[in-house]
Amino acid sequence: MIKVVHTIKETRDAVNAWRKEGLTVGLVPTMGFLHEGHQSLIKRAVAECDRVVVSDFVNPMQFGPTEDLESYPRDLQADTKLCDETGAHLIFNPEPEEMYDKGFCSFVDMTGPTAELCGKSRPIHFRGVCTVVCKLFNIVGPDRAYFGQKDAQQLAVIKRMVKDLNMPIEIVGCPIIRESDGLAKSSRNTYLSPEERKAALILSKTVFMGEKLVREGLTDAKKLVELMKKNIETEPLARIDYVEVVDMDDISIKDTVTGDTLIAMAVYIGKTRLIDNFIVSDKGV
Ligand code: AMP
Repeated sequence: MIKVVHTIKETRDAVNAWRKEGLTVGLVPTMGFLHEGHQSLIKRAVAECDRVVVSDFVNPMQFGPTEDLESYPRDLQADTKLCDETGAHLIFNPEPEEMYDKGFCSFVDMTGPTAELCGKSRPIHFRGVCTVVCKLFNIVGPDRAYFGQKDAQQLAVIKRMVKDLNMPIEIVGCPIIRESDGLAKSSRNTYLSPEERKAALILSKTVFMGEKLVREGLTDAKKLVELMKKNIETEPLARIDYVEVVDMDDISIKDTVTGDTLIAMAVYIGKTRLIDNFIVSDKGV
């Protein structure tokens, strides 16, 4: 039976007991309101680690002042059921005060891979992400931590942080899980009205179109971005934040789709900002 704890001490005590038994530990950081995307990460962690901790924390530090911190969906009971059924062992669900006590003033900041894409439109976002993930790594001390390719820039940022700061943790990236009609699963999809839900399909449709163009031999990044943007613009409810072609590891802008390349987009559907992407490697699309 899964255990839900709310304090750093309880989490450390549980992990220390496992470590005494020589067990390996996996961590899946989430903001809760779990769906099959999160579940795929938990499944992978359960398959590869003896014990799995899921953190369930809506991190105020990674939200800008005009963003959706207050309205972000929460359901710890449903999350607990999903984690239990998937075989996780512990949910760490702290209050913001447990993570950030009065006087908190230390941050993990990053240049490089945070400069483009979401880092441009959400200037404090990755500082919040790096800080909370660093704290979670220090609290849990996992052997492996699992992140989704859905947030491809975040995955690149965390890989860089672990390398730069010599954290002895293996970062495992997991593929994007989609609804049956193609929409990438996201806790934020709950914001969409039925009409917006239909309109949101323009993201995945454009991803699939982009993949097809690359498969057919298009390597000119400018041309690819132009065609993808044109496609998104056919949807009246969509407003493009960005469509970019970048290096998968350092998230620098690329002119050609060669080597490990990330093609990423952020699009507003009404007030809801959604992201999607695809990756091209030497092995193909
Ligand atoms: P979040 O709760 O949105 O912060 O996401 C927690 C983790 O789940 C992140 O590593 C995400 O990349 C991952 N994730 C969220 N949605 C999906 C999805 N549709 N497919 C795969 N991973 C996902």
